[in-house]
Amino acid sequence: MNKLETLQHYFGHDSFREQQEEVIDAILNQQDLLMILPTGGGKSLCYQLPSLLMSGVTVVISPLLALMHDQVVALKGNGIAAAMLSSMQTLEEAREIEQQLRTNQIKLLYVAPERLMNNYFLTFLLDLNINFFVVDEAHCVSEWGHEFREHYRMLSQLKISFPTATIAAFTATATELVREDILNNLNLQNPKVVTGSLFRENLTITAKHRQSDGRKQLLSFLDEHKKEAGIVYAFSRKQTETTALYLQKQGYKAAAYHAGLPTEVKNSVFKEFVADEIDIVVATIAFGMGIDKSNIRFVVHLNLPKTLENYYQEIGRAGRDGLEATTLLLFSTADMVQQKAFIEELPDSPYKENAFEKINTISRFANAESCRHQQIATYFNDTIEACGDKCDNCISPDKNKIDITTDAQKLLSAIYRTKQSFGLLYVIDVLRKSKEQRILSNQHDKLSVYGIGENLSKTQWQTIGDKLLELGAIGIGEHKVFVLKERGIEILKGNEAVDIRASRLMIAKAKKKKVDYFDDYEVDVFDKFRALRKEIALQNKVPPYVVFSDKTLKELSNIMPSNKAEMLEVHGIGQVKFERYGRAFLELIEEIENA
Ligand code: ADP
Ligand code: ZN
Repeated sequence: MNKLETLQHYFGHDSFREQQEEVIDAILNQQDLLMILPTGGGKSLCYQLPSLLMSGVTVVISPLLALMHDQVVALKGNGIAAAMLSSMQTLEEAREIEQQLRTNQIKLLYVAPERLMNNYFLTFLLDLNINFFVVDEAHCVSEWGHEFREHYRMLSQLKISFPTATIAAFTATATELVREDILNNLNLQNPKVVTGSLFRENLTITAKHRQSDGRKQLLSFLDEHKKEAGIVYAFSRKQTETTALYLQKQGYKAAAYHAGLPTEVKNSVFKEFVADEIDIVVATIAFGMGIDKSNIRFVVHLNLPKTLENYYQEIGRAGRDGLEATTLLLFSTADMVQQKAFIEELPDSPYKENAFEKINTISRFANAESCRHQQIATYFNDTIEACGDKCDNCISPDKNKIDITTDAQKLLSAIYRTKQSFGLLYVIDVLRKSKEQRILSNQHDKLSVYGIGENLSKTQWQTIGDKLLELGAIGIGEHKVFVLKERGIEILKGNEAVDIRASRLMIAKAKKKKVDYFDDYEVDVFDKFRALRKEIALQNKVPPYVVFSDKTLKELSNIMPSNKAEMLEVHGIGQVKFERYGRAFLELIEEIENA
C-alpha cells in the first residue's frame, strides 16, 4: 500500500491536509523533525501513518496516561496494532505486550518518559526494530512552556542511548523560546521544522467581561448549546463543584472534575464525557490535556487563564472534528489581580518576571477590541488577516459606547468618603443604600454618597469598578481595600471622561447563532444514528467517537448511502470501519428510508 491508500484504508480520509505529507516524507527519510500545529490539526496521523509503512515498532512518548489510552483505543478501532506500557497494566499484561514486541506484532507503542528512560526498558528496546521515536506534547521539555514536566527533561538522553534513531517531535505551542528548547533539549540533528497555520477557522472565539459570578452569562451561552458537549473551566476546585451543581439544577447533564477528586470519580467523569453521557464537564485545568474527544462543541472559561498559551491549548480542545465550535472567555480585572498575587508569592527568578508578562498578555488579549484570531497568531509569530466572522470583535465591532463619567465619579467619591479602607462590595452597598449593620455602625449611612447609586445594580457597579481598575483609576491595596490613584482623582475632578462598551453594562440577550450545527441535516436521523452508535460502542466497550465521529454521522444523514461503495465515500469511513460497523448502519438507513 502506498501513502494515499494507507490513508484511505486505515484512516478513512480522502486526502492529506496541508503539511501532513511533508512531515510523513521527512519521517520516512529518517530526518529529525519538529512539527508545530494547533490541536486538532492532525498531528497524530503524521506519525501513525508512516509507522504502518515501516517494518518495526514506533515508540511514542506522551505525558499523560489518559491521552495514550485514548490513542491506543482509537488506533485499535482503525485496525492498527497499538499498545501502551504504563502503571495501568498488570505485570502479566506488560509481559504479554513485551512478548508481542519481541515478535514484532505491534506497530505503535505508547510509553511515559519515566518508563522509557529506565535501564531495564532501555535495554529491552535496544533489541527491537524501532522505526523512530515520537515525542508528543514536546513543549513539556521546556521550562518556558506552560506545561513543563520534570520527566521530559530525561529525554535529552534519548539521542545518546539511540544515536542513530530518528526523533519526531510534535507540539501545538510555538513561541520562539519553547521551540528553541525543544530543538536543543532533544538534540535534534539537522531537523526539519514544519509549522502549520495557527488559525482554527472552525472556532468562533468570544470573550466578555464577567458580570458578577458569570452564571447568567454562562446560562445564556449554554442555552444556545443544548445537548452539545463542552468543557467549562473554573478557577478553583470549589468553583467547579458549585457550578456543576448549579448547572445540574438547571437541567444540564454536568459534572465537576478536579485533581482533588478520588481517582474512580475522575475516571468515571472522563469516561462518561467521552461516551456522550455527560454533556458538560466543569473542570480545573487538570482536565482535558490530550483528551481525544473530537465532538467538543464549546469551551467556556469562567476566569482569565494564566497565559495565552494555556488559553489557546484549552480552547483548542473544541471542534477537533473540524465542525463549528464556539469558545467563551469570561474575565474580570480582579482575575488578573488575583493571578498576580499568586505569582508574587513565588521566589524571585526569571520565570517569575516571565509569568507576570504572560498575565499582562492574556489580559490585553481579553480586553482588546481587534480580531482575536489575529492576536493569537501574532503572539505565536504567525501572520494572518483578520478573520472577518470567527470572533466577536470581527462579528460585531462594538462602537456602541456610553458615557459613565458621572457614575464613575460616584464610585470614586464613595471610595474616597469611606476613607479608602474597604473592599468594592462594601462601597457598592453604601452607594446602594444598604441597611447592613456594618454600614450603620460605621455611620456610613450619614455620608453624602449614601444611596446615590440606586440607579444601577450591584453587578453594574462591579463592572464600573472593573473598568476603573483597567484604567488604573483605582487600585487594590492590602486586604483587598480599594484605593484611588492619580487618574481616579483626575476623573473625580472632572478632568477626564470615562466611557464603556454599552454591552458590558447589560446582560446581553443571546443573539441568534449564525451557523447552526444542526442546520444542514436531519436532526431526527442524526439522533437515530447516535443511538445506534452508542449501542455499538457499548457492545464493543469503546467510546462512541471510536465508532464514528459526529462529522461522520452528519455526513451519513446527508448522503444516506445504500451500499458499501457509497458508504466508503463518507468522511471517516475506511475499509476497516466499514467491515466493523457498516452493515448495522446500512440496515438502519434502509429502515429509516422505508418507514
Ligand atoms: P492533533 O493530534 O493535531 O491534535 P488529531 O491527530 O487528533 O490532531 O486530528 C484531529 C482530527 O482531524 C481527527 O478527528 C482526525 O481524524 C482528523 N484528520 C486528521 N488528518 C485528516 C485528513 N487528512 N483528512 C481529514 N481529517 C483528518
Ligand atoms: Zn476576528
